[in-house]
Amino acid sequence: MAKKLFINGKFVEGSAGKVIQVTDPHTNKVFEEVSEGSVEDVRTMVEAAEKAFRGGWGTSLPHERAAFLRRIAAGIRDRLEEISRLESMNVGKPIGDSRWEVNAGAELFDYYAGAVAIFGGETLPVSRPGVDLTFRQPIGVAACITPWNYPFMMACSKVAPALAAGNSVILKPASYTPLSALALAEIVEKAELPAGVLQVVCGPGSTVGNALVEHPLVGKISFTGETTTGAELLRKSSDRIARLSLELGGKSPNIICEDADLERAASTSPLAVFGNTGQDCCARSRAFVHEKVLDEFVERFVAATKKLVIGYPLDDKTEVGPMVSRSQRQISLDYIQLGEKEGAKRVHGGEVIDTPELKDGNYLTPAVLVNVRNEMRVAQEEIFGPVLCVIPYKDEAEMIRQANHCKYGLSGSIWTRDVARALRIAKAVESGVLSVNCNNSVFNEAPFGGFKQSGIGRERGLYALEAFTEVKNVFIWVGS
Ligand code: NDP
Repeated sequence: MAKKLFINGKFVEGSAGKVIQVTDPHTNKVFEEVSEGSVEDVRTMVEAAEKAFRGGWGTSLPHERAAFLRRIAAGIRDRLEEISRLESMNVGKPIGDSRWEVNAGAELFDYYAGAVAIFGGETLPVSRPGVDLTFRQPIGVAACITPWNYPFMMACSKVAPALAAGNSVILKPASYTPLSALALAEIVEKAELPAGVLQVVCGPGSTVGNALVEHPLVGKISFTGETTTGAELLRKSSDRIARLSLELGGKSPNIICEDADLERAASTSPLAVFGNTGQDCCARSRAFVHEKVLDEFVERFVAATKKLVIGYPLDDKTEVGPMVSRSQRQISLDYIQLGEKEGAKRVHGGEVIDTPELKDGNYLTPAVLVNVRNEMRVAQEEIFGPVLCVIPYKDEAEMIRQANHCKYGLSGSIWTRDVARALRIAKAVESGVLSVNCNNSVFNEAPFGGFKQSGIGRERGLYALEAFTEVKNVFIWVGS
């Protein structure tokens, strides 16, 4: 029987009269079905969410909401292994990665349970006799729309701060990957969150997603997905000035300076671009390598890439699984071909894996393209697959100009032993999130988001609580 949607505190069938078929990227076989929601269901859900917000959730005290959040975190941990396996089967991601991500989801609920207690307003010194103070108030009904590459973690990074801030939330997961969002709904039901405070609807972006974006009672939309979809949401929500946060695509630089610790940079960077099979908005997919260390870096990088264990996602040893779908794999293959036509040289990978164990899945060996010029399409467009473009450079200023010559500005890494150079480059690179001498700087406590067409606004840290609240300024006159 198809899994049900979570509407106003109950698991019910969607009224579209259809099911979403959920496939396993390792076999391309359907292993689960989910009932599809309709525009009518969205209307019902928004009304229930509004009622829950006005009926007490919106004015509940922070410590009351924190208690619910902690129960949800505990509920996630209780089911960590089960949800991790579900996520690996649904997305194709290695089980070790899924365990990390599901645990990170629990940590997000714990973090916001604590953060909401210290998230307050200010008193401001104004030019009149009196006290000027600010309040942070929830917006109302928030729609959280998520993509398929990190379904559970992405849902938690939106839902946890939205609830902590006092909003009621409707979560719409990507149609490829609805299962872990429904598991979250079960945990929320068990945590006895009041009906309507969190609801989960599954169905196409073009119907239920669109209905959420256009509904006049949805005050806040938090979206992660493609830049083109984000632009469409921006246009649609602008008519009614809905609050909108966008986390969009990326084409992030991995900057290897001539004095970099090459051993460390080359051995850890493959997973920074091929992790999650390259289906990662932060993938370091453009390596800018100083010409003095180019050959050595490429040689070491390819050697480290060859060691990556590609295979069945539920095998503990697997580091790179299949891509989410055949069509996503085809996009990568087309880009590799395009890159070669544009003059790049493929020195490793880019081949469909057709061994008896893996041939039914969407497996692709990670591709390394050298002789890439930054203006090539393969270096400018987000492939969202396991493809690295290596771009040599001579001069730091010219490299920064090229790194910034890109419509995206999400993430990036800088490898150098010179602190001054690291800071100089970090200040100049137009990205929201940068790592020095490592490849990850995404933390619950720190802001995450992009410059330019990588998005609007920031998630995580207290920034996410800001994004899910309005500021109100109140002045109390005390003059005689
Ligand atoms: P999409 O933009 O296709 O979809 C994202 C979500 O939006 C899905 O739930 C989708 O539903 C929904 N949606 C699609 N069209 C509409 C619409 N018109 N109105 C409302 N909702 C809609 O992205 P993908 O799922 O393909 O995800 C990959 C993209 O996400 C990549 O570009 C990647 O860079 C980006 N991303 C960005 C991150 C960041 O933090 N910056 C992090 C992770 C990914 P449905 O599935 O039913 O189509």
